[in-house]
Amino acid sequence: MSRKPESTYDVIVAGGGAGGVGAALGAALNGAKVLLVEKYGFLGGAATNSQVLAYCGFFQQGPEPVKVVSGAADLVLRELGKLGLNCEPFRSPTTSNWIILLEPEAVKLALDRVLAAHGVEVLLHTRVAATTRTANRIQSVTLAGMDGRSRASAEAFVDATGDANMSMVAGLECRVGDPRGNLQAISAPIRVGGRDRSVPIDREAIKAAFREYNKTGAYPSARDDGGIYTVIPKTGEMWWMMFDHPMPDLSSDSFSRAERAGREAANDYVELLRRHVSGFENAYLVQTGPQIGIRESRHPPARYQLTGEDLLSGRRRQDGVALAAWPLEDHSIAGKPVYRSIGGDGTADIPRDALRARGIDNLWYAGRCIGADAQAYASIRVMGTAFATGDAAGREASRAAGVP
Ligand SMILES: Cc1cc2nc3c(=O)[nH]c(=O)nc-3n(C[C@H](O)[C@H](O)[C@H](O)COP(=O)(O)OP(=O)(O)OC[C@H]3O[C@@H](n4cnc5c(N)ncnc54)[C@H](O)[C@@H]3O)c2cc1C
Repeated sequence: MSRKPESTYDVIVAGGGAGGVGAALGAALNGAKVLLVEKYGFLGGAATNSQVLAYCGFFQQGPEPVKVVSGAADLVLRELGKLGLNCEPFRSPTTSNWIILLEPEAVKLALDRVLAAHGVEVLLHTRVAATTRTANRIQSVTLAGMDGRSRASAEAFVDATGDANMSMVAGLECRVGDPRGNLQAISAPIRVGGRDRSVPIDREAIKAAFREYNKTGAYPSARDDGGIYTVIPKTGEMWWMMFDHPMPDLSSDSFSRAERAGREAANDYVELLRRHVSGFENAYLVQTGPQIGIRESRHPPARYQLTGEDLLSGRRRQDGVALAAWPLEDHSIAGKPVYRSIGGDGTADIPRDALRARGIDNLWYAGRCIGADAQAYASIRVMGTAFATGDAAGREASRAAGVP
């Protein structure tokens, strides 16, 4: 007999990325009965569905790593540590920012374990497909799974779908991209195996190979610096982000073109390494995707929209519930990211109202769904900050549900 979800919860979280996992844990730690719904067969969001293999936003910029995210996120890091992943801060040689390097299978397992340990019910292969609501409250969600449709109700909900899919089906009017509809570029990080690990990765040789490829190659890279790469912990594979693509809109046609181009580019780029870069003679493509990396799509309406100025001035607020620490990383031009540092002491407060839906009283936002203008979004979307806003959204939602 298959297990049907119980129909009533204190909090239902849509989406199992960093924001959703943070929200589910935040609510569960408060004592709430929580359901988390994820459309893929695994948790992790972009970390596991788009090969985004570094947690950013856990530390401030600076010569020494100062950690600014804890709470639910620490439970995740502890679980990753138990699986042998070194979660110590690593200074990116490309950007000088402090990050935590990831290995995707460890992330999937750690998230399964940490949610189970805290009593969160998780439904994978299931989408939040619709909502029933009154004028200002969501009453229940329709879940579309392998066995058809079912309904689950709750006192409070968190949209942690990244793309604001729950808000969209609830009928909230969402902004697409910046106020003019321009979207941040998408990118296709990949994993490369088979490298001779005794040979250091030669950035100059990669740059030279692309200078030639870009003259006639079908998928020229906009990055002239050899791209961003790291060595993945445990597996020793190379993680590499070299292919970026502007997104004109959110149509399925545009995403289909981008996915196909990303795969073709990955094939060409690994072949370039094999032919032109020492140590890569036996290299092979381990994985793209499962989906291309989407930086930006819809933004649902929040009661407060965090601004670039809030972050650039390091604004402190009485109603701060999480901290932004990652620089504003703008990808408006594909392959040419621009970084601007957070002001003040290197952190800025994210206020409670940035996590609250405008128009629906029992809906909260986590991760990249929170209220942010185009500039602030370029900082708050990273996964360390998503854990923090998720944790706060989950706690707020559980309190609104009358827990504790
Ligand atoms: C190419 C690229 C590189 C990046 N580099 C970094 C980096 O190095 N470090 C970093 O920290 N951040 C990085 N980011 C940003 C970061 O990955 C995302 O902004 C972050 O993952 C946001 O977390 P989230 O939980 O809000 O959303 P997501 O990670 O997108 O998770 C949303 C989840 O919701 C699920 N979902 C969607 N709709 C539904 C539905 N209707 N029902 C059920 N589930 C649903 C999705 O399957 C997904 O698992 C990068 C992003 C991209 C695209």
